[in-house]
Amino acid sequence: MNATWEKVLAELRKRMSEHTFTAWFEPLGFLGIENSVLRISIPHRFFADWIAPRYSSEILSLACNFFSLPIERIEWVVAQEKVQEHQEKGPLPPSFESVTSPGWISSTTEGVLRRLTPKSRASDPRTPELPFTHPTTHSESARLEEATQLAARYRLHPRYRFENFVVGLSNQLAHAAALAASERPGKRYNPLFIYAKVGLGKTHLINAIGHHIRDRDPCARVIYTSAERFTSEFISALQQRRIDEFRARYRSRCDVLIVDDVQFLAGREQTQEEFFHTFNALYHADKQIVLTSDLPPHQIQALEERLVSRFQWGIAADIQPPELDTRMAILKKKAELEGIALSEEVAFYIAERVQSNIRELEGTLLRLAMQADLQKRPIDLALADFVLNPRNKEEKERGEPSIDALIAAVASHFGLRRDELIGESRHRGVAIPRMVGMYLARSELHLSYGEIGKSFGGRDHSTVLNACRRIAGLLEQGNPQIQLAINAIRSTLFPDKSPSASQGES
Ligand code: ADP
Ligand code: MG
Repeated sequence: MNATWEKVLAELRKRMSEHTFTAWFEPLGFLGIENSVLRISIPHRFFADWIAPRYSSEILSLACNFFSLPIERIEWVVAQEKVQEHQEKGPLPPSFESVTSPGWISSTTEGVLRRLTPKSRASDPRTPELPFTHPTTHSESARLEEATQLAARYRLHPRYRFENFVVGLSNQLAHAAALAASERPGKRYNPLFIYAKVGLGKTHLINAIGHHIRDRDPCARVIYTSAERFTSEFISALQQRRIDEFRARYRSRCDVLIVDDVQFLAGREQTQEEFFHTFNALYHADKQIVLTSDLPPHQIQALEERLVSRFQWGIAADIQPPELDTRMAILKKKAELEGIALSEEVAFYIAERVQSNIRELEGTLLRLAMQADLQKRPIDLALADFVLNPRNKEEKERGEPSIDALIAAVASHFGLRRDELIGESRHRGVAIPRMVGMYLARSELHLSYGEIGKSFGGRDHSTVLNACRRIAGLLEQGNPQIQLAINAIRSTLFPDKSPSASQGES
């Protein structure tokens, strides 16, 4: 049976990207088929939520085929290493299986998704999906009114929506959890805790949650705030003796509480106490709580233990720095949103160089667009190079010499004619000056090996590369003639740059 299941998986693998398969399908386990029900074990409830709407029918039809059995539905069985139930929420439902399977997490999902103790009720696959409305003393119109007021007071960033969020391996679990939480707020992923270093999309994702919930239910009372804002509102409520109003807003008139950067609660005891009670009130009323931080809960310094443990009740997902493909996709998305014409080539050039932070990636694109506008020229590789390489830029602003001027200066220094310098002769008296010229074109003009080769009589990339290495080697050995020649040529090319200041650059 297991071998047949492998065949099903192999077939599925062909139909999706390797990333998706590794992250979502590799951790699945085949438990058997009984009474037309295919039983699949999953490491977390979360997997079923992501896979079922997307792949159930494919899995079913492939399984029917390969097993030659009638299979009508899939039962997802959560395999838990250890289920720690917290006191407040009743016993585990009978269907919650406690199967030990320590090796389930694949290397790609490890570190991305941290499994934390799930809510018991939430983990029961048979829990009916309740509509997202809560019994309340308020009429619908009162809720709508409150929701509208909150939306005006706690504005969501208009562009930070799911549509504008590019999903890649580095953020797919955080994205899936965010989407799931916004489709069934207060049900499964509560609290949802997203953590990542700066500039990787936390604020974007939680705004997207807020938008999605409000789009689906305009009566949903969503508070989107930051730990800083929560703190300052709390302090001023205390000072103005309006703490009741503050508590009513955060605890009883709120359906979804989204708090950015909770690490800023650290060390603020009174605010933590208030937040603790806010958290409890909302959580026990099944209201969705979404939090972000730059670190996972247990690593936040000076955060009360009881808050740390509550933050771990739901699910925590991290976002890693994006891979090249994702960076390219983000650049293209951003360019599309900003109406910037960006070629594949330039997107690649930027994505290759700006790696760790998406905000920086966007910043580079905008600077590029601004330069293109200023200089009234298209965004091409040369412009990208100009913007991304400040040293280059400085020199260009001072009127960087052209390659022709450089060749002329080298030829004149060695008492050669230009056509001799770039010609065929392999004589030492010509070959060495030629190599010096190539080296200088690289170190001073930052041209590519290919471009240099073209200007030096149509030589190829590897010839130039070898020449540059050879000269760099001679310089390293302290060869006085080469050193002198280079200094002299440099000072003709850059009269205001002292030779010693540019030594050592290559
Ligand atoms: P954080 O809150 O983690 O510091 P932000 O959410 O402010 O990061 O993201 C920084 C910038 O990068 C924002 O402009 C955001 O829109 C953009 N960004 C981050 N991740 C993505 C993504 N996956 N797709 C598109 N844009 C993204
Ligand atoms: Mg942020």
